[in-house]
Amino acid sequence: VSPAFDSILDVAPYQTGKPIEELTREYEVQDVVKLASNESPMGCSPYVTLAITEQLGQLSRYPDNDGYELKQVLADFTQMPITAITLGNGSNDLLSMLARGFVSAQDAVVYSQYAFVMYGMVAKLQGAAAIEVPAQRFGHDLPAMLAAVKANANTKMVFIANPNNPTGTLLTHQALFDFVSALPSSVLVVLDEAYIEYSPESNNSSLLDDFDNVVIVRTFSKAYGLAGLRVGYALSSDAVATVLNRVRQPFNVNRLALAAARAALLDQDFIKRAYQNNKEQMRWLEKQFDALGLAFVRSSSNFIMVEITDALAIYHALLEQGVIVRPLVSYGLAGWLRVTVGLPEDNLRLIDTLSYILNNDS
Ligand code: PMP
Repeated sequence: VSPAFDSILDVAPYQTGKPIEELTREYEVQDVVKLASNESPMGCSPYVTLAITEQLGQLSRYPDNDGYELKQVLADFTQMPITAITLGNGSNDLLSMLARGFVSAQDAVVYSQYAFVMYGMVAKLQGAAAIEVPAQRFGHDLPAMLAAVKANANTKMVFIANPNNPTGTLLTHQALFDFVSALPSSVLVVLDEAYIEYSPESNNSSLLDDFDNVVIVRTFSKAYGLAGLRVGYALSSDAVATVLNRVRQPFNVNRLALAAARAALLDQDFIKRAYQNNKEQMRWLEKQFDALGLAFVRSSSNFIMVEITDALAIYHALLEQGVIVRPLVSYGLAGWLRVTVGLPEDNLRLIDTLSYILNNDS
């Protein structure tokens, strides 16, 4: 039986960071440190536990299909009307909904080299042309992406990750504004802000006021520490939200996730602490990489890409010592590892283990 589109077979199944449980089983190492999936090293707000506990007596009941209580808090937080908000089962769900709602097999989707892997995947799953534009210094080359849109009149969607995963690069507001201004309004620009809490100085929400063809997608998986619950949200014009709401599966965000995200959002002090740890520990990691003579790309996020000879061998050597990082071969960055910024003790363990491996290698 052939799939709906040949391009589905071009899609490599999504590769995740190695789960801690798997490493414990395979290598029989205890005390694993996972710095591979850009998760929060600080867990989540203590108010989340309380909010989830309150829901436990209700598990036989479907969740609120409209996610009204979470949306209300999100509307306050983002200063957007409730009708502009769509909830997703993680932001991946929203990326997929956007493609399903707006991209057909005759269309093209434009995104950057070294950008988050889902963009090409969701385009190919629609049978659409996936146009990857070469990056510039590991970041989005917006003029080249604009030229790609102009050269492909059937472009329907552009994905931009800001900050970008896995490179950590950040675009200025002016560059984004100029880019969207120059695009035809028939092209939907998806601005993926999964890591925005780590770059609070970057504020591109006004693009939503200026343009109806911009969607901002965010997640509770990163700074909010709710990766295990799967919840994200999109902000858009009502016209786009109306389409997403038709594509969305009923009850796509579960009861525990809705309650947890609401409690997490209300605890902005937690986000400030997460930001502070990340900032201090990022600086510390940069110093250690400098001391080890390893090149890195300065990051505006909660992870950092470091250049290492024989990166894959080093990745395996780290695994054997119970430290999980992320190889970037699937991104075409074979000589690099991506490391999530952890707590001070996690980062110390990483650097100690890495120095030991590098010194024993030479
Ligand atoms: N966008 C970017 C840029 C990401 O790095 C990730 C997670 N790796 C996601 C979206 C999806 O995250 P989630 O589905 O957990 O919200």
